[in-house]
Amino acid sequence: MGGAAIPQLLQGEDHKIMSSTGTLFVVSGPSGAGKTTLAKWAIAEIPNLRYSVSYTSRPPRAGERPGLDYFFVGVDEFQRMIAADAFLEWAQVYGNYYGTHRPATEAMLANGCDIIMDIDVQGARSLRRKCDNALLVFIFPPTFQTLMQRIVDRNLDSEETIRRRMAMAKAELSAYDQYEYLVVNDDLAQAQLELKSIVIAQRCRRSAREHCAQSLLQSLVP
Ligand code: ADP
Ligand code: 5GP
Repeated sequence: MGGAAIPQLLQGEDHKIMSSTGTLFVVSGPSGAGKTTLAKWAIAEIPNLRYSVSYTSRPPRAGERPGLDYFFVGVDEFQRMIAADAFLEWAQVYGNYYGTHRPATEAMLANGCDIIMDIDVQGARSLRRKCDNALLVFIFPPTFQTLMQRIVDRNLDSEETIRRRMAMAKAELSAYDQYEYLVVNDDLAQAQLELKSIVIAQRCRRSAREHCAQSLLQSLVP
């Protein structure tokens, strides 16, 4: 599998990836901000939007489904995939490897889909460089206290994991100014509406609608 097999994509020597149609909606934020909740809601609610299932070397949490939430692989396998250039981007986050599968991303774009991906700030920076069609959305918690409470109430991480993730939160939040959009996830319904509005606004850009405008104009009798 590879970019060369997919005519809609242009892949340069530096693996720049572009699509004439689809957008990569990149969602980042500190652990517990609500990225997974919002992204999974978005794919259920918004037509033609797919979730990018990442690869990770972290062990599954209770209830996580292989192939739907993540592809869980060992460290050796992840490193082998890095060497084989299988990732559009990858990073080490909280001591584990995470990466976006290049062929799967290309296939979704080639099918004319938009993609929503939950990736950290390093991965978002990398995608911004590589993909002209990446749109970066940062998810903020309303307060630090709420962030902490949500991650504790989620009841899926050990105390040590929570401590480690909270220690990273300030540095992660400080990267918000590299993003195009900021959603404050206080009231969930409001945050969902804002995320959906971002996707719809992106789809309504003139450049994305150019072909509709052209075919309408051409169909008009002079
Ligand atoms: P992330 O993917 O950013 O780590 P999650 O989506 O897992 O965060 O959300 C963390 C926890 O907070 C989950 O238990 C989720 O159900 C809850 N949550 C998310 N958004 C809200 C919200 N707006 N109000 C209340 N709880 C929320
Ligand atoms: P979690 O272990 O809570 O699911 O995710 C931990 C962190 O890894 C989050 O910041 C999440 O955005 C990030 N992450 C998940 N998948 C990817 C990926 O494919 N690439 C990168 N760079 N980060 C990812």
